[in-house]
Order: sequence, then C-alpha cells, then structure tokens
Amino acid sequence: MLCFQVCGINAHVKDGKLVKVEGMAENPMNQGTMCPRGLNITNYVYSPERIKYPMKKENGKWVRISWDDALDTIAGKLKEYKQEYGARSVAFSVGSMGAEDIEISAFAQRLRGAYGTPNFFSIEAHCFRSRIMGRLLTFGAYPLEDPDNAELLILWGHNPDQSEPAIASKINKQLEKGLKLIVIDPRKIPIAKKGDYYRIKPGTDCALALGIINVLITEGIYNKEFVVKYTLGFDKLVEHVREYTPEKVAEITEIAADDIRKIARIFAGAKATTIMQGIASLDQQINGLQTSRALAMLMSLTGNYAIPGAWVNNPRMRLTNLMVSKDYEDDPIGMEEYPLFWKLWGKASPYGRQMDLPDVILSEKPYPVKALITTGGNPALSWPDSNKVKQALKKLDMLVVMDLFMTETAELADIVLPACSFLESYRLAYNYALVAGISYAMLNKKVIEPIGESWQNWKFYSELGRRLGYEGYFPWNSDEEVVEELLKPSGMTFKQLNEEHPEGMFYGSRIYDINEKGQINTPSGKIELYSETLAEAGFDPMPVYKEPTQSVEVNPELAKEYPLTLITGARMVQYSNYQMKNIPEIRQLAPNPEVDIHPDTAAALGVVDNEQIQLETRNGQILSRIKITEDIGPGVVSIPHGWVGKSAANILTENKPADPITGYPELKVIACRIRKI
Ligand code: SF4
Repeated sequence: MLCFQVCGINAHVKDGKLVKVEGMAENPMNQGTMCPRGLNITNYVYSPERIKYPMKKENGKWVRISWDDALDTIAGKLKEYKQEYGARSVAFSVGSMGAEDIEISAFAQRLRGAYGTPNFFSIEAHCFRSRIMGRLLTFGAYPLEDPDNAELLILWGHNPDQSEPAIASKINKQLEKGLKLIVIDPRKIPIAKKGDYYRIKPGTDCALALGIINVLITEGIYNKEFVVKYTLGFDKLVEHVREYTPEKVAEITEIAADDIRKIARIFAGAKATTIMQGIASLDQQINGLQTSRALAMLMSLTGNYAIPGAWVNNPRMRLTNLMVSKDYEDDPIGMEEYPLFWKLWGKASPYGRQMDLPDVILSEKPYPVKALITTGGNPALSWPDSNKVKQALKKLDMLVVMDLFMTETAELADIVLPACSFLESYRLAYNYALVAGISYAMLNKKVIEPIGESWQNWKFYSELGRRLGYEGYFPWNSDEEVVEELLKPSGMTFKQLNEEHPEGMFYGSRIYDINEKGQINTPSGKIELYSETLAEAGFDPMPVYKEPTQSVEVNPELAKEYPLTLITGARMVQYSNYQMKNIPEIRQLAPNPEVDIHPDTAAALGVVDNEQIQLETRNGQILSRIKITEDIGPGVVSIPHGWVGKSAANILTENKPADPITGYPELKVIACRIRKI
C-alpha cells in the first residue's frame, strides 16, 4: 500500500526475502494492474536509505539510540510540556499516508485524545476535504463517481493516468468500450485525445460550471422531474445564474460560448454522466468549495444522482472508532476563523487547520506550540510555503518524525524513528471507500520481517501512551489484535481475511436508490441548491465566481513583474507525491523536475527544451528544466509537486488562506516568471 488506491498485490518471498510483486487479478480496484511505483516495491523496501534504528540529534549529528531511550525522552518531554504549557502545546500530524492508513490515523488520534491536545492535523486543511464539504453541503452525503456504468465521463482538472493509475486503467478500458469523454483542463493531458477537449483558463472552473448551469436552465434541458422532487432553491438558482451567460463565461474561461452550450447539451443528453474532479485541482482556488458545489448542482440538475453511472453513495465500512472522545480545553488551531471547515451541522472534523500551524509556532499566538509528532508525512515539503514551514519546525522545542526515510522533515527533527513498510506488518487495507466507491477491504499481510529496528506505527503510539500513563487506552500487543479490534463492528474477522479471503471481501455495494435512507441528508431533506447553512454563516448561499487574487485582472501590478500563470501540484505516476524520488530504479524513469511551457512562451523567453531555468514567484524561486509542449496554453506554466531540495514546488507557494469558507490556499493560479540562468 504505497498510496490511497490500496491495490491488491501478490508478494513472492524466497528465504524470507521479498523477490517479486505482481498485481492481484481478483482485486476489484486494480484488477491485476500495477503502476511503476508498485512494480518497484522491492527496491523501495530494501533501499539502503531506510532508517533502520531510532536516532537523536546531538550537536547537529545523528546518534543511534534505543527505542527505550527514544520513548523515555519523548514521554518525559511531553509530560513537561503538559505541565508547563498545557496539552494544547503539543501537536500531532499525519501526512497523506497517515490520513489514508487507518492504523496511523487511528493510533495518532487515540494518543492525542488520551494526552488531551485538540491539535491534530492532516493534509485536509489544503487537500480534499473542500470537495467533501461541497458535496456534503449540497446532498448531506458524499457521493462518489461511478464511471463503470456511465455513458459520459467528464474529467474536470483530473488526470487519472498520473494520479490514480488503478482507476485510470479501468477508465481506459471503458473508453475502448464506448464511454464518451469530455476533458476540461488547462493542460491537454494524453487521455484528452480520446474525447472532446476544452482548454480552460486556470482558476475559472466555477464560472464555467455556472455557465453550463445557465445553458441547462435557459434551454430547458435540465431534468425537471428530478429538480421538482428532490431539490431546494431552484427558483433562486434561476435568478442567480442569469448573469452567467455563455458569452460572459467565455470571456472569463477562454472557452468559446458555443462550446459551453455544446458541453451543456451533451451533458443533458447523456443517460448517465459522472464528473470526476481532480484530486486537489479545483479545491486549491479562491472558489474552491463553491466550485465543488457548482459541480454538485450540475449533477443534480441533470438528475445524475443515485443512479448507475452518475454520482452514487456507497457504504463506509463499520470499524471500531479508536478516537478518545473528550472535551478539549480549546478548539483546534484555525477553527475560529473557519468554523464550517471544522464543524458542519454539529459534527466536528478530527482535524485542525495545519495551514495555520507554522504561524502559530512562529508567533506563539494565541499560545505556544512546543512540540510536533508527525508520521506518514513530510510537512517541510508538502505544506504550502516550505520556507516558512521549515522555519517553524526549527523553532519547535521537540520535533519527532517517524518514517521509512530521512525526509526533509526528518532532517529537521530532534528524534527520528524507523517505521515499517506495509509489507512488514499485518494491517487493514481499506481506503475508507473514498476511492472509486468500491466497498472492499482486505488484509494487508506481513510478508517479511521488519527492516532493522523499524516498528509498526500502532506500536510506537501504544508504547508512548503507556509511558505517559495511558496504558488503559492501549491494551493491544500485536498486529493481529489491532486488526481484530478495528474489524469488530464490521462482521469480518482477522482469521476470515487471512485464511478464507486473502483476496479481500466486499462489505457492501453502491446505492442506486435516491429514496434509501441517508441519500439526501441535508437539514431541509432536499438537495440544497440554495444553502441556508452557508447563508447563515455569512457566505454566498450559491456559488459566485471570483477572480483569483493573483490574476492580472485583480493584481495588474503583480502581473507586470510576474507575467506568467503558474499551476502547481500536477501528479507524476512514477512517484507518490514526494515519495520514491530516492529510489534509483524509479528515478531513472523521470529523473528531472520539469516545467511545462508552450512553444510561444519559450520563444518569447528565449529558452529551449531541457534548459535549466529559475522559476520565481513573489514567495521564492526554484530550479527546474524547460519542457516545451503544445499541451499547455501560452502564458501558463505547470509544475508537479513533490520534488525535493531546490526544486520543491512549495517554496513558490504561500500559505495564505484564499477560500473564505475553508481557508484553502490558492495553489493553481500563481503569478510567476522564468529567469534564464
Ligand atoms: S502505488 Fe500503484 S500499485 Fe501501489 S497502491 Fe498506489 S496505484 Fe496501486
């Protein structure tokens, strides 16, 4: 399990050593396929760069210590901080792998609960939760795409070939069988050649969605029966979108008015359409949450909800909740400014806004944060404004990092702890059913012994908890006991998954009935085109398009200095975000960080293919190589995220909140320039 796709893998072991892996044909997610990362698991697991034992930093040098020493030191400090500054002065964070790996997430949250700090963070303050909220606010549920049964697929800022290889392989098979495709993206991604492609100006997706809604309504081609029966606020929406005529939207988005009409008509004419939005491409904009709302409205107006091939709900697996419920002395950091992000309809998210953590650490306002314990993530690289994040991490009194490798964050730590890879312990392999809507779980088996002195994450949190006096919260002593505990409410058992169903089991199926309980779960009991919740909280109850703050229209002075538009965050199939850059067998597949630019832009700058340049924003500069391609529009440049050192994309980004509801930053429309070096 190297990413959130949680593919099924057959691992072959000889004399206790992993020798080969292959995709598991029976697994409904990957159906036998594997991406380049998965195919290189042996190189990853046996990398000589693995952290093999606990270490502490002494006079700037790493010194090997025992697990007992490490745990005693950490526990001693945590007791001191709690005594002197209160439990809130210690923060826990998990990265993408931590949020997706149920064991890391559950145990980190259990310990922070026992300890009593409200400050638990994941990447959700700048990735993914925004779209969940957009759909929740509209349906009261979080429906997922069902491309397997769709007649039309709209990939909106989404490039599954790079970001979701297992899903991409299914989509590509469906395309061969006649699935129709529309791609809306500033970049003409390869899959766009298999359908209709529309190049959109970065950051204008919300306007396009409103323009399509305008056409559906003015041409009367929406699903009237569905709208009357299930939605709330249609009359207000009619008035609201009147101004978003195709002509006006064409000026904003640079997609021709007739093309906007064409998209709407194809959409309305298809029997079942599913929109797949990018992993974070639409979220990390000033209109982020409202764009997700606008897409939810499109699906509603066309009746594409709770039917095969549309957006459908699927049951989540019932698992033991290991969170310790208690009243914390404070709300998590950042919640005062973005209350809906934290608590919607009385239900609180377990996460604070890590976006605000660097400023809190640096300013010690509203209170000092002295320590951070982080697992399954690399904040120094993956949180916006890397330089500020690093400065904040350096200021901490204690930074503890548990990881497989010496990441940029681990380099800054006081104590690093070696983590097992997923092949070195039994775990529950489950992606919260948030990917592809497949209600499926399997046992991730231990196939080799842990490398060096690496530990499972649950063991670290449990041992630390015991040293802090919370042994009652951590009664488990083996992988098997942990998995068994998690599985209790599910009806499955460790033995069943281990012996009878090693290929995994379905625990439910997609719900194709809008009248079934929980399909529309808003306060009004209707699909809320107009959101009273947003209105009461002081936000626009229906999406209003706003120009990106660094666009030439809003900030012409900035554009004089930084005339190009930068999109960050493109995924690379060779890497799982920042992970695996240090594996030579993978690195040779994509050795250099590259910046995509149009031939006209390259000509104007006098740069050539593969030339090393400096890419600059008002926040910083990085090194990259030029890749000239017609697939991107003139004046727009795109870089992937996850490169390290002087090429790390987040050196260029700012951690300023932009979306007024979620506080998400703008990472898709950044004024930049390219300098020859
Ligand atoms: S890294 Fe590749 S093979 Fe592994 S889970 Fe992700 S998509 Fe599947």
